[in-house]
Amino acid sequence: MSYSVSPIGFLRSCFKEKFAIPRQPQLAPAARGVLELVAPFDTGDAVQGLEQVSHVWLLFLFHQALEDQPRLKVRPPRLGGNKSVGVFATRATHRPNGIGQSVVKLDKVEPGRLWLSGIDLLDGTPVLDIKPYVPYADSVASAYNRIADGAPLLIEVQWRDAALSQARSHGLRLDQPLVDLIEQCLTQDPRPAYQVPPPERRYGTRLWDVDVRWHYPEPGKICVLEVVET
Ligand code: SAM
Repeated sequence: MSYSVSPIGFLRSCFKEKFAIPRQPQLAPAARGVLELVAPFDTGDAVQGLEQVSHVWLLFLFHQALEDQPRLKVRPPRLGGNKSVGVFATRATHRPNGIGQSVVKLDKVEPGRLWLSGIDLLDGTPVLDIKPYVPYADSVASAYNRIADGAPLLIEVQWRDAALSQARSHGLRLDQPLVDLIEQCLTQDPRPAYQVPPPERRYGTRLWDVDVRWHYPEPGKICVLEVVET
């Protein structure tokens, strides 16, 4: 038996590439996006009352990780990429039906548009449903997860002077907290755990319309090298 679903909207996100997106929502509060609803959800009726809610669940499709054959075991990056566990014990992107879920902050509601922050979704992500976060039911005080038992360890982020002024001026142009966004994403160390980066190796990603490049001058430290318009 199969069922079909259709997106109720698409996310315009600060994240233009998968690399360096935080592994869960709320880890980069400066990560912003706008969910643009499609007809018939774009008239205002479907979001009426949502202004009384601070956070929403997004159910969405990992549209850039869809696969024909479901995986039963996956190797989560937070376990170093070398230990496999059942797909249902993880929040891996490669999963049956490719469905993701994130709790994000709802900053503003307009007819046909939701302004969001703390997101972990790629630009263009198809969103299948929106549900209000219900604190008394969705927050479980006694909950534990021994596979993912805490937020990622943070590493120090330094800037080249020129890169910091580039980020500041692009942030002003874009009217976005770009310096915070870069720091919040990089301090979580997006590099796959198994890579030991030599200082000459350059890493990069695209946030809004800028390319951000960095390297690891020494283990456990990131230095932002440049922030340039694409
Ligand atoms: N919070 C969600 C969940 O638990 O279902 C997502 C968790 S998943 C581990 C987070 C990663 O998904 C991000 O780091 C990003 O690389 C990836 N991602 C985000 N949006 C995606 C999309 N539309 N297609 C494929 N991968 C995506």
